[in-house]
Amino acid sequence: RDDVLSNDLRPDQVRLEGKLGSGQFGEVRRGMCYLTSRSNPVPVAVKTLKNNDPAGEKEILSEASLMKQLNHQHIVRMIGVCKGESLMLVMELAELGPLKKYLEKNLDIRVWHQLELMVQICDGMRYLESKDVVHRDLAARNVLLVTDHFAKISDFGMSRMVDNSSAYYLAHGPGRWPLMWYAPECLYFHKFDSKSDVWSFGVTMWEIMSNGSRPYDRKKPQQILHFIESGNRLNKPRNCDDRIYEIMLQCWEFSKEDRPHFQLLKISLEELYREFLRLQI
Ligand code: ATP
Repeated sequence: RDDVLSNDLRPDQVRLEGKLGSGQFGEVRRGMCYLTSRSNPVPVAVKTLKNNDPAGEKEILSEASLMKQLNHQHIVRMIGVCKGESLMLVMELAELGPLKKYLEKNLDIRVWHQLELMVQICDGMRYLESKDVVHRDLAARNVLLVTDHFAKISDFGMSRMVDNSSAYYLAHGPGRWPLMWYAPECLYFHKFDSKSDVWSFGVTMWEIMSNGSRPYDRKKPQQILHFIESGNRLNKPRNCDDRIYEIMLQCWEFSKEDRPHFQLLKISLEELYREFLRLQI
């Protein structure tokens, strides 16, 4: 705890404003942060805790210690941790909020724009892959937009460093897991690595191409598992280019060895992005 709080923010440096969203242990509020006494305050998003719940406190501290190690333009940056009346995680603000909501509202989004966002998310994930971090909750609801054309990956509440010796993270059990975004090895063996994030990235691509729809309709977890085991996958979204769907299918290869790394995915997506941008489709 001292480790996280060492580059701590004082309560008088943070001013809380309206609510942005709610999470498992409390709410996320908009705010202003005074980094130094001389500089102008910067707009921030602040994860706050309800009733000083010890489980929530532990989760915020673990999220903060992981975020502190990350530095990438497509990943939400942590500004600091503040212990006022309760513990707060202060992050840079992504003004336009969750990508899922943006997709639901902007039904006429162009394909080049969808690809542009995918390339950016993939770039952030490539960075996490290079740092041996597994996100474990990649989904359109956890990608935030700074502008229409600038995405950042957020919500590191479930993220973990991968153990170098085993090369995967072994989770304890299915708590509140986002099963519809999870690869088979996560559901069967609770094993997570960057290739299981690749599966979730494929589902996120599907959400982007489907106006933020819910994957697998209303199927129950057991039905989804059976559906996937039988070789089925999420349908090709309406009007989705075959080459984009082909990339999703690669992300959903049953064996993780057959799925591409984020590094390679980024190259394929960039190529398509350039082509669609040139044609203005
Ligand atoms: P969950 O229970 O879904 O895991 P959580 O407690 O981890 O939630 P987040 O998903 O990180 O919380 O944040 C909840 C909501 O707060 C987001 O959906 C978003 O609307 C808002 N939010 C979080 N961080 C930011 C940010 N940096 N900029 C703008 N809005 C944010």
